[in-house]
Amino acid sequence: MSKQLILALSKGRILDETLPLLADAGITPAEDLGSSRKLLFDTNLPDVKLVVIRATDVPTYVQLGAADVGVAGKDVLLEHGAEGLYEPLDLDIARCKLMTAGISGAAPSQARRRVATKFVDVARRYYAQQGVQAEVIKLYGAMELAPLMNLADEIVDIVDTGNTLRANGMEPRELIASISTRLVVNKAAMTMKHDRLKPLIARLSEAVASRRETQGA
Ligand code: AMP
Repeated sequence: MSKQLILALSKGRILDETLPLLADAGITPAEDLGSSRKLLFDTNLPDVKLVVIRATDVPTYVQLGAADVGVAGKDVLLEHGAEGLYEPLDLDIARCKLMTAGISGAAPSQARRRVATKFVDVARRYYAQQGVQAEVIKLYGAMELAPLMNLADEIVDIVDTGNTLRANGMEPRELIASISTRLVVNKAAMTMKHDRLKPLIARLSEAVASRRETQGA
């Protein structure tokens, strides 16, 4: 196994919050990630590289060892499964909730419920635990549209402020999980590259703790 460290970062809103934490831990990209079409980046450290990929691909890269370390939302990790991954640190960023939601004022259907979501496995597990019969319909985006178009009775989706739901005449119902962004590490790399990973995790952990203090102050 090479001594190079590859970090897989989730594109999009998580990335903007991840970069300052990485900078606090001593890692900065060698060029501006936003203004480049590149996917693989050098950093200020010669043996650390960054890949910037779709959030849903991060667990796969880390699980299969193409990346040693990843930054991914708990929502993505719950859906993907945790096999081959350690999750040593809650980075405490991009907090949100994974919830069920339905049309405002409408009672949840007691018969077999049609549920639209991109979190198919999470939804199946959740409704089974609740003893609710559910037909889970996979969508890739704009879940809020599904109940309005009578494609589904309910959705399972990420809720932050709730504005997206409200704007579409919907309301949150049940909380499935509180979500934040996590650091994940390939299990084999954790052993083979422990000397490199231990200080990185420690520095990130300090950065998270000092942010909590400043925000709490
Ligand atoms: P809001 O209108 O503030 O409730 O935001 C809801 C929408 O923003 C959802 O449809 C999500 O797709 C997206 N969103 C909000 N927060 C996050 C997050 N932390 N991670 C991923 N997606 C998010």
